[in-house]
Amino acid sequence: MPTLHAKLPASATDRWSACPGSVHMDAPVRERSVYADEGTAAHALAESVMSDDDAGPIAGYLSLAIFVGPKGETRIVNEAVQPHSAGQAGDEAKFVIDHEMIEHVSVFVDFCETASITHGDGSKVTGTLLEKYVKLAGVHKSLGGTLDFAEMYANGDAILADLKYGRGVVVDVEDNLQQKVYALGLALQRPKSIKRVISYIVQPRAYHVDGPIRRAVYDADYLRGEFADWLRQRALDTEQPDALVFAGSHCRWCDAASICPVKFEQVQKAAAEEFGAVTTAMVPTEKAEVDFPAALSQAYEILPQVEAWCKNVRATALTFLSDGRDIPGYKLAAGRGTRTWNITPEELTPILRQGKLLKADCFTEKIKTPAQIEKLLAQQKGMSPKLIKMLLGDLIESTPGGPKVVPADDPAEDFRSDAAADFAT
Ligand code: SF4
Repeated sequence: MPTLHAKLPASATDRWSACPGSVHMDAPVRERSVYADEGTAAHALAESVMSDDDAGPIAGYLSLAIFVGPKGETRIVNEAVQPHSAGQAGDEAKFVIDHEMIEHVSVFVDFCETASITHGDGSKVTGTLLEKYVKLAGVHKSLGGTLDFAEMYANGDAILADLKYGRGVVVDVEDNLQQKVYALGLALQRPKSIKRVISYIVQPRAYHVDGPIRRAVYDADYLRGEFADWLRQRALDTEQPDALVFAGSHCRWCDAASICPVKFEQVQKAAAEEFGAVTTAMVPTEKAEVDFPAALSQAYEILPQVEAWCKNVRATALTFLSDGRDIPGYKLAAGRGTRTWNITPEELTPILRQGKLLKADCFTEKIKTPAQIEKLLAQQKGMSPKLIKMLLGDLIESTPGGPKVVPADDPAEDFRSDAAADFAT
């Protein structure tokens, strides 16, 4: 089914609410990203498993292919029965469903399929939505978005769950604007009966200190009142012909970022001033004056300055904090550590055999990393995480990573207080 798009999509609320003029930017067409297509394929798999009563368990989808078209349309094909060439347009992306996709999509499917047990105090399910496009016309005619999964209960609770299949950008759930718009869309479906909305992000492939499933709880009256008023005003702002353009962190996913004159000015200023003000800039939108090739050419000219500036800021901040000085809003945290085997390959071989792994499975010219071996073991029949831990737990040595600079509200422990505690013991 092709994906429906609102003019003010829920998924881009952080961008258009902060930069109303971005809606009028005539952005260049971006290359389709393989990561976005892969996410679409994962959603199609989840939807198929949950919506088709005859589908059977998700494991039955192993080795089938998912094709993703240019408008987000998908089809799942058993290529042994229906060869790839049959009906495939040249611009479709193809993904073969492998163990990894099944493992990760299962986290979302299992969550949704057991939601009625873990929510609603055993209260009756009064409605379920799956891949449902929800309009928020009561707030503003251009608002809408597609809910991955939602369920409503007789006790006044409603839940929604959003599958994030990416592993590169970790998504927080607290005050997540996209989620709040979905939550409002749900609260508006049943204004009299829904009392609170519990919003979940399920992101099985990316590490987060709170785990792969994270939640935020919203009072439905707050969503239908204060939040709806705020959202309506931001949507009305986008209708102004001279809507303002503001640069900031929300530019990250903006299609116009590479040609936007305000973004350009912000980066240029930052590069020129090195440590000058870099948070916002504003000018009226001048859509007609944007010359894409010239804007891209200008942007390319300052790339070395900008890259050097970023490197400089990171290095200086690290030195600054490591020296014991403070930077408002930032602290030092431990970087990612590494794990290595603490026994020889000869000693390890008979142990791995217990996990039904042959020498050829585990050895390259040098031994594979602990994470790679754990993944191989996990694919063996009868191997649970507990068994894997029993088998390998004492054989892996973890070395903490070096310090890195992160925002002060990052959930990571403060590296300096950790180090001080180590000294004290
Ligand atoms: S790049 Fe940033 S400032 Fe420019 S239109 Fe997009 S969101 Fe607005």
